[in-house]
Amino acid sequence: MPHTLSSELEFGIEIVRKACALGEKVRLKFQGAGVAKADKSPVTIGDYAIQALIGSELHKKFPQDTLIGEERASLLKEGEHSALLADIKDALSGFIPSMSNSDIFKWVGEGGMPQTGRAWVLDPIDGTKGFIRGGQYAVALALLENGKVTMGVLGCPKLKDESLEGTGMLAWASRGQGAFWSGLAENAFKRPLKVSDCSALAEARMCCSEDEAHTDLSKIHQFLQEAGNQKKPIEMSSLAKIVMVANGRSEFLLRLLSPKKPDYREWIWDQAAGSVILEEAGGMITDLSGKPLDFGKGLRLFDNLGIAASNKKLHPELIRLLKQISS
Ligand code: AMP
Ligand code: MG
Repeated sequence: MPHTLSSELEFGIEIVRKACALGEKVRLKFQGAGVAKADKSPVTIGDYAIQALIGSELHKKFPQDTLIGEERASLLKEGEHSALLADIKDALSGFIPSMSNSDIFKWVGEGGMPQTGRAWVLDPIDGTKGFIRGGQYAVALALLENGKVTMGVLGCPKLKDESLEGTGMLAWASRGQGAFWSGLAENAFKRPLKVSDCSALAEARMCCSEDEAHTDLSKIHQFLQEAGNQKKPIEMSSLAKIVMVANGRSEFLLRLLSPKKPDYREWIWDQAAGSVILEEAGGMITDLSGKPLDFGKGLRLFDNLGIAASNKKLHPELIRLLKQISS
């Protein structure tokens, strides 16, 4: 029997809140300790611990559903990573009463392909490089149903808002029902997320990655010059950027293609949760040519190149200028 969406959202909000507490515990205790994956990207104790925590709760709550997380248990099974496994267990103590190695392998899982039907898509720590250096990072969980994102939750433990006393924001949305946020430490208090109504690109505040390898910073500067925009870009790691746009603290974000990887295609877990949250907050997200994102093509957005996200009002001008600078 299909579950109502609200029980999924309730689950998502609760588990991402817990995952953020786990992320901060790991960050303070182990800093960025971890290993490099085959593609040389970093993976930390936090990535595995959060994916295991969410996997364990998801298997209990929705046993029929698939979890497609960024991390793979296969790397942990290699003998030389037994110390890493011990640290993951240590991190999870206080969150899960007891566990064996094979529990962790099962909860982390081996990913899988989104089929028709439901799949939960997870980036346990988006912005791992930000996490390692004590900057912005995000826990991103989304529900994909028949290739469409129907729900998303984003936890940003290091994100601040001027209306919030402490640090840490949780944002969520389910399709057709609006987007909301609350402070990570607040349990019940929620506020609507709404994009800014700025309609002048020259006045807009832009967010972009702080990692040269993930974007094209020189082209971004060219874009701003063409737009007559003299505002300093807000450079930050992770999907925290999209919460900034959804919350009206920034008007747009760009993920231009790095000249070193011009054919890079975004992973679904890097965009799923943020896309529904931004759209429900009144914003718009497409690729750099203005094409809608297609989450039904597999593990990556194979039909899309780069990302442009905005408060919607600025979108046509954004895409026009992007085309102009790339022609
Ligand atoms: P950010 O925190 O905005 O720098 O982006 C972090 C994300 O960039 C990670 O989730 C990676 O999956 C993704 N990423 C890794 N390599 C690239 C690349 N060459 N181009 C664009 N994104 C990348
Ligand atoms: Mg990521």
